Amino acid sequence: MIKNKISVTKSSMPPFEEYCDEIKDLWESHWLTNSGVKHKELESRLREFLNVPCVSLYTNGHLALENAISAFKLSGEVITTPFTFASTTNAIVRNGLKPVFCDIKESDYTIDESKIVDLITEKTTAIIPVHVYGNVCNVEKIQNIAKQFNLKVIYDAAHAFAVEYKNMGIANYGDASMFSFHATKVFNTIEGGAVCYRDKNLYETFESQKNFGLRPNGDILVAGGNAKMNEFQAAMGLCNLRHVFEEIKKRESVYNRYVERLNGIYGIYLNLTERDVKSNYAYFPVRFSNYKYNRDKVFELLMENDIVARKYFSPATNEFYYINQAHLHNQETPVAKKVSNEILCLPMYADLSMEDVDRICDIILG
Ligand SMILES: *Cc1c(COP(=O)(O)O)cnc(C)c1O
Repeated sequence: MIKNKISVTKSSMPPFEEYCDEIKDLWESHWLTNSGVKHKELESRLREFLNVPCVSLYTNGHLALENAISAFKLSGEVITTPFTFASTTNAIVRNGLKPVFCDIKESDYTIDESKIVDLITEKTTAIIPVHVYGNVCNVEKIQNIAKQFNLKVIYDAAHAFAVEYKNMGIANYGDASMFSFHATKVFNTIEGGAVCYRDKNLYETFESQKNFGLRPNGDILVAGGNAKMNEFQAAMGLCNLRHVFEEIKKRESVYNRYVERLNGIYGIYLNLTERDVKSNYAYFPVRFSNYKYNRDKVFELLMENDIVARKYFSPATNEFYYINQAHLHNQETPVAKKVSNEILCLPMYADLSMEDVDRICDIILG
């Protein structure tokens, strides 16, 4: 029997007719970008959906994060996690800031809040943690530290769309949070992203920063770039948002099947949902530590069967070539190093069938 190739993810798409319907008015208006009707509607829908006071849309999550960092006019050092996608660390460096790497917890892979205070110097201006895999950072402790030392907190919430903590939208914590709406994320606008924040006065700043620094009166006050979300992206978002709960529900079934098959096996560590957290089941990371196969072996066994898993994140970002060249590998982060050598994200998407999950688990369990 010929078996299908299984990818690590598969982008969610609305029914074709629904998208065609959504973009039809654009052929009337010929208004394709620069805060058109779709853009405005998606912004307001997301404010409601994410349960946050302010949302600014972007053409991708990375530029949303870069702009969120620059909006707070930070300087000097920023404490962050090395266990993340390149985007987080690059956004800090591209803002002319020095990333100071704090180790993570082996339990949920988020920044180890007990190690933050020791890294604070007189140059520290912010903490940039990541809700990695949708796992919620210790937002309360991080808030307390930030308050005590007068630091800003900007969350990379790229993985955490629709995640709630204690019945609150995750983006209500910290000074700002960035979401990614990239094709591979739980909710997508093809490419896209957003910054969520509480201070309404920042809206004009973000509008201007993503549009060459233009103010409504035509003045250019800062050297802004171009990071606007266009109407076709926003239209995709409006369609996908209507289906996102169904999508998450299906992901939950995939999650449950994986857990049923893999939980409690010696040497296999799962990323289980936590109390007080409403999960979005964005990823299914598994850690192989003293299992009969190591991570690389499992990766190869799956590959031989046309199943693509992803070594996400490997290496940790403080191992990057440019970080070493610039002598920015400033802290040893042994837990992040260990986890990055042991972690493997298994295929996870709404339409992954139970048969395919079983096939994947059969290979892993050998
Ligand atoms: C996807 C991702 C980003 C960047 O988002 P894009 O929309 O692809 O630019 C940033 N941080 C993390 C952790 C991500 O996974």
